[in-house]
Amino acid sequence: MSSTAATAATDTHCPYCALQCGMALRPAPAAPGGLDVVERTAFEVNRGALCGKGRTAPHVLAAGTRLTGPLVRRERSGELEPAGWDEALDRVAAGLRGVRERYGPDAVGVFGGGGLTNEKAYTLGKFTRLVLGSSQIDYNGRFCMSSAAAAGTRAFGLDRGLPFPLADIPRTGCVILVGSNPAETMPPALRYFTELRENGGTLIVVDPRRTRTAEQADLHLAPRPGTDLALALGLLHLVVAEGRTDEEYIAARTTGWEEARAAAMAHWPELVERVTGVPVPELRAAVRMFCAPEAAMVLTARGPEQQSKGTDTVGAWINLCLATGRAGRPLSGYGCLTGQGNGQGGREHGQKADQLPGYRMLADAADREHVARVWGVDPDVLPGPGRSAYELLDALGRDTPDGVRALLLMASNPVVSAPRAAHVEERMRALDFLAVCDVVLSESARLADVVLPVTQWAEETGTLTNLEGRVLLRRKAVEPPPGCRSDLAVLNALAARLGWEKGFPADPEEVFEELRRASAGGRADYSGITYRRIAREDGVFWPCPEPPAGEAAAPHPGTPRLFLDRFATPDGRARFAPVAHRPAAEEPSAEYPVLLTTGRVLAQYQSGAQTRRVDELNAAAPGPFVQVHPRLAERIGAAEGDRLAVVSRRGRAVAPARISRDIRPDTVFMPFHWPGEGRVNTVTNPALDPASRMPEFKVCAVRVELAEEA
Ligand code: SF4
Repeated sequence: MSSTAATAATDTHCPYCALQCGMALRPAPAAPGGLDVVERTAFEVNRGALCGKGRTAPHVLAAGTRLTGPLVRRERSGELEPAGWDEALDRVAAGLRGVRERYGPDAVGVFGGGGLTNEKAYTLGKFTRLVLGSSQIDYNGRFCMSSAAAAGTRAFGLDRGLPFPLADIPRTGCVILVGSNPAETMPPALRYFTELRENGGTLIVVDPRRTRTAEQADLHLAPRPGTDLALALGLLHLVVAEGRTDEEYIAARTTGWEEARAAAMAHWPELVERVTGVPVPELRAAVRMFCAPEAAMVLTARGPEQQSKGTDTVGAWINLCLATGRAGRPLSGYGCLTGQGNGQGGREHGQKADQLPGYRMLADAADREHVARVWGVDPDVLPGPGRSAYELLDALGRDTPDGVRALLLMASNPVVSAPRAAHVEERMRALDFLAVCDVVLSESARLADVVLPVTQWAEETGTLTNLEGRVLLRRKAVEPPPGCRSDLAVLNALAARLGWEKGFPADPEEVFEELRRASAGGRADYSGITYRRIAREDGVFWPCPEPPAGEAAAPHPGTPRLFLDRFATPDGRARFAPVAHRPAAEEPSAEYPVLLTTGRVLAQYQSGAQTRRVDELNAAAPGPFVQVHPRLAERIGAAEGDRLAVVSRRGRAVAPARISRDIRPDTVFMPFHWPGEGRVNTVTNPALDPASRMPEFKVCAVRVELAEEA
């Protein structure tokens, strides 16, 4: 299926990761997807640079496996078969309505995605709470950066991935990059770290593996997976012991130091070396490098965040910033490198279980009242907070009073991406009714009763908010295949069928105008941002409030840098977290003596639903593998390429061995982009962080053994 080419080049953004690289799309009828990707150097974030995923993004528009018409599971054959839109939408409405009438509104769940535009995330949350009347909505972003969000909110009163632009990185003195591998996850961002070093700054990478990013570091610390909380405490201990704290800053801008200090002092460097495996001299070197310059940053990603203590782990790194006076000051601070394309905006506008648009909270009466007023309903109509992503998935198909019997799934593929994935797949199969909106027949869509084919990035317009909090406009560049509709049109049609008489806008700009009002005065305030303004300025940083009506004030300029005067807490001070080391939910045992950690590779994205359909990307990264140290390989009796089974208490995954000294001998690594026998999330642990409800993707105990031949 090919799409119809547009007539002019269009400035837009990549459909994949949170860097949201700028690109232009030029009509090219003979090219895959009918579009050529052209450099857009004026967009300062990537200055024209793209990784292979971005360069080949139009291929997905025309992938042979693209869905081009609805599918409905026929009783006669038990198979998904083509259907018209009216029949498919009627079936979805009937499926959702039937479960709601039989078991109540909370028996209907909704699962969204961090790739949805702001408009879609907003509409999905509104649809769930108003049309379905259900509290049961969450999204795959819970699996991405929720620990950083919880820790940032706890410390600073506000969560924005980076509280400063990426452009500040080369101008600071030292960056500690914790559990992040931008060389593979967002290559155009690597130049910020290269320029940092060219400018005389230093880069410290904390990662159990010697990644392509770690290779470029001045210092690479390789802790055992799940021990970076102890590592941060050990560094803070040394900061205190060596008299490197910034007492004036601590007194003026923070609270809770004494407790945090006491917790750190209990973590002696020798103890930290025993727990983490990082030698004391390396700890001392890191402290010297971090404290020497005037300004410094700590940036985290999924490594410290995807743990059952992810919030406290990030909190420990924030404590290090606060104790040294390196937050809310120019060129200094803590930030999170969010992963998914709209990982930032997707968590701000209401598809998170406990939140309303603008980072308003469902549990807060004033927040409920504001949003209810915008939506034209009584606040009492709004349900309360729901369950987090894994808890929601675990409740699917359960014959219990709190079971979720029907699910609407949008922009997510939990059969591959959720922890304990075989169990999640089993729960999805037990549903009374499953509807999926997607562009391809993903592993999750294959289980559906109805599949609705939706338009994708270049076929529709919408806003996204990148990892810096910069709100961007992704423009339509090509007509979608005639059989596809936008997610907004789908929600609009379903709302009408489910009896929502007030109408549901399907035009993205109209939705954004409503979102602006809903977010006004909230923590993520978009009220001063318009489509026209984003287009003119090539992005606007939130918060950006609209000047009060009637005032002839200049428009708010947006806020590239947060917290320079005060933090967003009630007293304006940042809060230390009194955190202590605790082990991962699973420690190695006689039966499961090895640690497993998971992550991404350069040529694939998330569950691979899109990138696995691009030949060039598949050629570069054709399948999963088990990265294993030579000493461990020898113990197992494995040679390069041998099939290895990685077995945990939850299941097993099989993939070829890739023997490398770039990983600790006590740890194996597997990327998570593939289904089938190499689906590593069959093995991962759904143990949840108590604050963020983040599963422990990054560490679990496994046995590694030679597998039978395929
Ligand atoms: Fe797209 Fe991310 Fe690659 Fe940029 S780094 S081209 S946003 S996938």
